[in-house]
Amino acid sequence: MKYFFTEWKKISEKLVGKKRFFFFDYDGTLTPIVKKPELAKLDSRIKDILRKISKANKVAIISGRPLSEIKNFIGIKNIIYSGNHGFEIEIKGKKIIQNTDHRTKNEIRRIKDKLAKEIKKIDGAFLEDKGLTLSVHWRLVNKKNLLKLFAIIRAVICNNSRVSLTKGKKVWEIRPNINWHKGKAVRFVMSKVQSPKSEVVPVFIGDDATDEDVFKVLENGITVRIGKSKKSKAKYYLKNQSEINRFLNLLTKGSIKYFTSVKYFVCHPELVSGSIDAESSSA
Ligand SMILES: [Mg+2]
Repeated sequence: MKYFFTEWKKISEKLVGKKRFFFFDYDGTLTPIVKKPELAKLDSRIKDILRKISKANKVAIISGRPLSEIKNFIGIKNIIYSGNHGFEIEIKGKKIIQNTDHRTKNEIRRIKDKLAKEIKKIDGAFLEDKGLTLSVHWRLVNKKNLLKLFAIIRAVICNNSRVSLTKGKKVWEIRPNINWHKGKAVRFVMSKVQSPKSEVVPVFIGDDATDEDVFKVLENGITVRIGKSKKSKAKYYLKNQSEINRFLNLLTKGSIKYFTSVKYFVCHPELVSGSIDAESSSA
């Protein structure tokens, strides 16, 4: 893993004459991590740069937040949004929601009701209902109570094959147990908006465990992690989130017009029906 700014010269050579497709995580990447999720507002300077980038390049936000929320937080029209770790995607006004059956949805509702009651016993624990998924935030929980909180979650979802548990930064997430994640969402988005003949370099930046799925699928792209980590599959790192401004400014330099000549296309029937099969669209 190399420091992005010392490698910039080499990276920029790789980008010469190429179209760029930018993918950004939101929390901890475009905004600093905050104590409560609702406080993670986008800085107006970052918003201005994003707007500028999106005029000349394709841009997608790949977040763990619900789609409606991430759209509100960013508020830029001509970009692609993916929420709930890729379970919800919106491309040019068309929503693609991962197929989860009725029983799984009901199961998540049941888990939500039960957890909401149970985690009241743990000071600082907070349950976020994101529709298709649930998040249990433990940023404000005293460390000595963490095991207790984890035991509560385990007891509620134990032996339930309809859901899976993943961990993010000071959060546990309960999702439908289907083979879908941020990495697959990124591949899906690229397959829908990329001209097959065009040479595009994907650029992704993220900070969390769930972003590793994207680092893995974009092995030929420019992948950047906020914070150095030996375990990460990202090629480059920024020292911390406050370097995002410099990073964005640098990457916008020399951008070439994207999709001015390539017709933006969304032609798959599954987009119209509003659902996709996780397996068939993952290639
Ligand atoms: Mg993040």
